[in-house]
Amino acid sequence: SPKCRSIAALVNRRLPAATIRLLRDLGRTGDELGLPVYAVGGFVRDLLLGVENLDLDLTVEGDGIFFAERFARAKGGRVRSHPAFGTAVVVLSDGSKLDVASTRLEYYESPGVLPTVERSSLRHDLYRRDFTINTLAICINSDRFGMVTDFFGGQQDIQQRTVRVLHNLSFVEDPTRVFRAIRFEQRLAFRIAPHTENLIRSALRMKVLDRVGGIRLFNELVLILNEQEPLGAVRRMAMLGLLPFIHPQLRLSPETERAMTESSRLLTWFRLLYLNDPCQQWQVYFLALCERLRDDEFQEACRRLSMPGRFVSQVFAHRHRALVMLETLQRRLKRAQDLRNSEIYDSFHGLPLEILLYLAARTKNDQVRRLVSLYITRLRHMRRELDGNALKELGLAPGPNYSRIMKRLLDARLDAEVGTAEEERTLARELIADAG
Ligand code: ATP
Repeated sequence: SPKCRSIAALVNRRLPAATIRLLRDLGRTGDELGLPVYAVGGFVRDLLLGVENLDLDLTVEGDGIFFAERFARAKGGRVRSHPAFGTAVVVLSDGSKLDVASTRLEYYESPGVLPTVERSSLRHDLYRRDFTINTLAICINSDRFGMVTDFFGGQQDIQQRTVRVLHNLSFVEDPTRVFRAIRFEQRLAFRIAPHTENLIRSALRMKVLDRVGGIRLFNELVLILNEQEPLGAVRRMAMLGLLPFIHPQLRLSPETERAMTESSRLLTWFRLLYLNDPCQQWQVYFLALCERLRDDEFQEACRRLSMPGRFVSQVFAHRHRALVMLETLQRRLKRAQDLRNSEIYDSFHGLPLEILLYLAARTKNDQVRRLVSLYITRLRHMRRELDGNALKELGLAPGPNYSRIMKRLLDARLDAEVGTAEEERTLARELIADAG
């Protein structure tokens, strides 16, 4: 039987008042229906670690969908249920979400008799999880509020900062757990237990990852590359021999490490400046990780990960253009040729931010890096004052001159040939006169 102790004091000390109220309310719904209700998984793990995590996962010993519907009705929320899995998502009026799972395993011992719900079903449910640190459950019913259920030694592993599987076939059963083990280890500064690491190595020797579909592999990789500091996890992937499953030529060379470290620095810089500009961190790291791959190898890696075709051809085209650009810029800088702002603008215009950051991370040339940063911080925001309508009002006849003159006006802005609206208008008049 599991060790039981109450961590109600910890719950009260560490969680926000609103979360505690929510837990108490959920517990009372459980009381009313006579159903044991538990907070489980990452929420409990992070609570014990003192890490903020308000993603609440519940497991109901019994019919979780029935529970979810009752709770939502009482609180004015909505429920999306998946009867085949016995799971439901409750969306509360403030937009927050709760995941509810059921542990019910029903046995019809004889026809016509009420089903018996398996007694050890919570244990069953938790046994299906990936690591012991994710198997803890806290009861939230009123009479047992805060009681921890720990079937598999999760508390000790949290204390000893260890990632450990529950059984020897865990990675064979679900090879994506290899990635999850690394992600938790690196994020929480834990250590994968030696036996668990051996199980990873032997699963990889059995090539279990070859059986994992591209989309699942891709999802796991994105989760890793979206972690706060993914380099540690990528090093660990390299150390355990995971990279070749993405592409046989993929290695973590010192060059690649440098590009990833540089990516991290640039992403931090970028986020501080442009909090609201969306930038897909994983893409920057993915490009950096693949920096040694040739074009065709890069495409193969994307295909192995089942990235959508349109997306791949876009990223591929941009990556290609960025590399050609890098060469050109480096050549010109070496010959000490001055680059006008309008030329820098033309070099980078149309490239997504992720590619620009990759370019800056990848180059070893400080001057190139400065050009990218000039483009990101200033040039990409610059605009002309006059539009097509304004040119028409100034008397420009319809035709191809419109786009040429508008480009010329933007260039003049970029190169500080004009500074004010009035100066731009004067230049436009001259250009229109020339065109006429
Ligand atoms: P995160 O902070 O990354 O969200 P989490 O622990 O909440 O961490 P989720 O990916 O949201 O992780 O998964 C929720 C729970 O489901 C986990 O605690 C874990 O026990 C279980 N789980 C998720 N993926 C697997 C898997 N591949 N095999 C077994 N259990 C899993």
